[in-house]
Amino acid sequence: MNRCLLSEIFYSECAGCGITIAPGKYLCRQCLEDLPFVTERCEACGYPLEISSSYCRNCSSNKFFDYLFIPFWYKGVIKEALKNVKFRYGFREINFFKYLTDFIDCNAANYDFITPVPSHFIRKFRRFIHPADIIASNIAKKYSKKRVEILKRRKYTKYQWQLRKNMRHVNVRKAFELREEVKGSKILLVDDIMTTGNTLNECAKLLKRNGASDVDCLVLSKGVFI
Ligand SMILES: [Zn+2]
Ligand SMILES: [Zn+2]
Repeated sequence: MNRCLLSEIFYSECAGCGITIAPGKYLCRQCLEDLPFVTERCEACGYPLEISSSYCRNCSSNKFFDYLFIPFWYKGVIKEALKNVKFRYGFREINFFKYLTDFIDCNAANYDFITPVPSHFIRKFRRFIHPADIIASNIAKKYSKKRVEILKRRKYTKYQWQLRKNMRHVNVRKAFELREEVKGSKILLVDDIMTTGNTLNECAKLLKRNGASDVDCLVLSKGVFI
């Protein structure tokens, strides 16, 4: 077998910077060290703060979810890696999400439902990999639970990051519908990237109005300056 082909099989690239690394690894040592873990933030809305606080001046008074888990900021290695994943469609990318899920600690065994923020079926059709689905499945598996799709996206919406801040809540308004009875349930709602939180809030509003007792959100990463 020629050397080039062998290296294709036995070596892989760092998901953050692209340098060659040993097989079975996802990040080089430098990128692993540079992972942008969230430390200080607003506990309610996720806004980055110098010292963590239970609320901040960016918090919306119309918040429907209860607690917010965010392991990473959307910057540096995480931003590069998530951008790369969107342009590739392989099993390696799926495994990379599994790898990142191992950094998340969220007591998911306590929830009745672990559910992803849904994509519209047109977007599902276009893209093979849906990070929110993969992260929700991994979290569920880690805590011996099942991922259940309790929400459906009924409106094809633009990506939130494509819109001005004041248009984002309009974009997702009434975009979702329920597929399951949620009365009295504790729900963990999962997504890959959080911008302003309008999408999560719209889902949480629907769940709470239909009787969910607790709706916590888990996002793999949150934009720092939005
Ligand atoms: Zn690297
Ligand atoms: Zn806040």
